[in-house]
Amino acid sequence: MKLSRRVFLGAGTAATVVALSELSRPRRASAQLFRRGPVVNLYSARHYDTDESLYESFQDATGIRVNVVEAEADQLIERIKGEGTNSPADLLVTVDAGRLWRAEQENLLEPVSSSILNQAVPEYLRDPEGLWFGLTKRARVIVYNKERVSPSDLSTYEALTDAKWRGQILTRSSTNIYNQSLVGSMIAANGAADTEAWVRGFVENFARPPEGNDTAQIKAVAAGQGDLAIANTYYLARLVKSDSREDQEVASKVGVFFPNQSDRGTHINISGAGVLKSSPNKAAAIQFLEYMVSPEAQRIFAEGNNEYPVVEGVEIDSVVADFGEFKEDTLNASVYGENNPEALQICDRAGWK
Ligand code: FE
Repeated sequence: MKLSRRVFLGAGTAATVVALSELSRPRRASAQLFRRGPVVNLYSARHYDTDESLYESFQDATGIRVNVVEAEADQLIERIKGEGTNSPADLLVTVDAGRLWRAEQENLLEPVSSSILNQAVPEYLRDPEGLWFGLTKRARVIVYNKERVSPSDLSTYEALTDAKWRGQILTRSSTNIYNQSLVGSMIAANGAADTEAWVRGFVENFARPPEGNDTAQIKAVAAGQGDLAIANTYYLARLVKSDSREDQEVASKVGVFFPNQSDRGTHINISGAGVLKSSPNKAAAIQFLEYMVSPEAQRIFAEGNNEYPVVEGVEIDSVVADFGEFKEDTLNASVYGENNPEALQICDRAGWK
């Protein structure tokens, strides 16, 4: 069995192949990488070894070779734009609906009509025109310090402006797309004016100016720098599963709360993919997406980043399942993108750094 090829792009060096997982001669490999034939070329913002094993299974099952270029989503989008109609990229894989929307805005995505995809992926987790499909989902939850907070103190995202949380909330910057998508979902639920007022109150309750990623917020809550953090579920699952005792201790000190259970549900986001307009291997690209929504692929792909499968009835990783069942906000994920420019303006005006 031949391994799928995997190329990493270094930051700021979009045209340079800086490493290859199993090939010692990147230049030659890179020339071969995009050859025509039974092949599908993924430009992916995901970086998990389990994804690789999945690509190999697809290769074994179909004879279609999978090549992967990995980089940050914005870098991949720029590269695809630069390559134009000559781009070898068949699929763009990202870790947030907002980024797929950016690709859509750049007119890079091709509508796909597949009954397999439409049946497997719930409507709210795919683009209405078939420009992209969610492949896994994650919830943006409240992580609380178990010594200082009882779940009964918590209810909704909206209630995080309450004065009782003054100086107690930790979150990463609003330059992060997860927060932009959360704000976009709140604009849809409550309108722009109420959302702006909410951001102002939320910022007033910050324990410190935003710094670090979701993991940093969870650690700060465990260390008592504040009572609550906003984080995606997989960041906590990672800490629970970590080999480091320090991480395990952090995980033991915090609890997960799913907000808005008595109204619209908890905000969720997706990792997803879309077929590119310039794709030289469209049929293979669609076949790849259809494979990714098979129950077996769903289980592995979701586990790779401790996420939830999008397909109903697929087994959830036990650590993730232990967070509990919850009601999801079923707002179509495409709205996060549509509301993104307004979300950015609101965060800027309301002082969410
Ligand atoms: Fe993340």
